[in-house]
Amino acid sequence: MIVYNNGVYCPLMQAAASVQDRGYQFGDGVYEVIHYTDHHGVDEDWHLDRLDYSLAQLQIPWPMSPTALKQCIRQVRLKNNLSTVNIYISITRGVPVTRDFAFPKRFCPPVLTIIPYRHKPVSQGLRTKGMTVITAPDLRWGRCDIKAIALLAPSMAKQSATEAGADDVWMVDDQGFITEGSSCNAFMVTQAGEILTRPPSHAILKGITRTRLIALARAAGLRVTERPFAVSELNDAAEAFITRTTGFVIPVTRVDQNPVGLGQAGSVTHNLLSLYETFVQEQKHGHITDTTRFAV
Ligand code: PMP
Repeated sequence: MIVYNNGVYCPLMQAAASVQDRGYQFGDGVYEVIHYTDHHGVDEDWHLDRLDYSLAQLQIPWPMSPTALKQCIRQVRLKNNLSTVNIYISITRGVPVTRDFAFPKRFCPPVLTIIPYRHKPVSQGLRTKGMTVITAPDLRWGRCDIKAIALLAPSMAKQSATEAGADDVWMVDDQGFITEGSSCNAFMVTQAGEILTRPPSHAILKGITRTRLIALARAAGLRVTERPFAVSELNDAAEAFITRTTGFVIPVTRVDQNPVGLGQAGSVTHNLLSLYETFVQEQKHGHITDTTRFAV
C-alpha cells in the first residue's frame, strides 16, 4: 500500500514519524476520515471545512492548500488503485526546536500523512440485526468538537465494549445523557417517530454524516430534534442508530443488553439509510451540488 507521508508517496512500511513530533509526544494533531465512492468524496468539502476548524482551534497551519490536499488524496487513491476507499488524513504539529507545553514560537512545519483503508461496506446482516452497544462514562476532555488524534479515552471505552462482547460503546455525561459513540454520533427514535440526537457543542464531534442526515431527514418531512437524550429514555425508544463516515447509518438494536424497541432494525433507520445512500449516489453524479460551508 502506498501512503503519503511528510512530502513523499511511499510504501506504508517506510512511512515514519519522528519521536520528537508533538503528535507522538503530546497527541498534538488532528485528523479527518473521508469516504470515497468511485473516486467521489462524500461531502469532501465539508470534511475539509471541519479539518480547517480543527487546525484553527489548535493553531496548526495548513501543510498545503485544501486544493493541493485533494490532489494528494487523489494520488493516493490512484497509486493504490482504490476508487472506493476510506482515506485517513492526519496532520500533526511536527517537530519543535525545544520541548515546551506551549505551542512552538518558531514556525514548525506540520506533518501530513494520508493513509487509505479498505472500505468494508456494512453487511446485510448488520443492517438488519443491528449493533449492540454498552454505555460507559464519557472520560474524554472538554473539546470533543476538535477532531484530535488523542483518542485514548474512546479507545478505553471501546475496549470495555469489546470485553463485554458488544460492538460499540455509547458514552454518557455526568447528567446521564448520551454524548456519542466511540467514533460515531448517536441517535434514538421515539415511539412517536421523532428523531433525537445531541446538539453540537464541545461535548461531541459534529459529524459530517450526522449533519447531512439531519438535513436529508428534514427535507423528507421527518421530525428531527437536536436535544440530549438520557440513557433511561432508551427504554421507551422505538429505534436507535449511529452515523459515521465509514458506515453511513447503522441500526443499534441493544443497549446494555436491553432490546431497543422490538430489538431489530426499524423502518425509520432503514429509510434514513436509503435517503443517505441515494444522496451519495446523487452527489457522485453531480445532481446535488451543495456549496454551503460546514460550520462546526
Ligand atoms: N463522533 C466521533 C467521536 C467520531 O470519531 C466520529 C467519526 N469521525 C463521529 C462522531 C462521526 O463523524 P463523521 O460522520 O464525520 O464520520
